[in-house]
Amino acid sequence: MDDCIFCKIINREIPSKSVFESDKIYAFHDINPEAPVHVLIVPKQHITSHNELTTENVDIMMDIHLAANEIAKQLKISDSGYRLINNCGVDAGQTVFHLHYHLIGGVPMGSKIL
Ligand code: 5GP
Ligand code: ZN
Repeated sequence: MDDCIFCKIINREIPSKSVFESDKIYAFHDINPEAPVHVLIVPKQHITSHNELTTENVDIMMDIHLAANEIAKQLKISDSGYRLINNCGVDAGQTVFHLHYHLIGGVPMGSKIL
């Protein structure tokens, strides 16, 4: 996708601070962190949002979740805890339309979701 900012980050056309990479996943620090740890976990394949997951591409979810475990251990928040958040669509506040999960931690966040 020519005009997708995350595709450009994956292709190294835009710099980012990498924390994890595999053949299918790239993860990097959010440019505008909302917590001490705020990492974006992104499939290298361009999938616009959670709505576009299908039986053909849903295997990527396994890679995303296993990457989240690896990164949480690497950044030492697996014991203290973290949130793994996907924003899908306008009401959820999705601003980049390439599927991604926010891995957020390093601070107590309480029990509220909204
Ligand atoms: P969304 O709101 O779509 O769920 O999340 C998009 C996230 O991407 C935001 O938290 C935003 O700060 C982050 N972001 C947007 N542009 C860039 C960028 O160029 N580099 C990095 N590292 N993060 C970005
Ligand atoms: Zn993309």
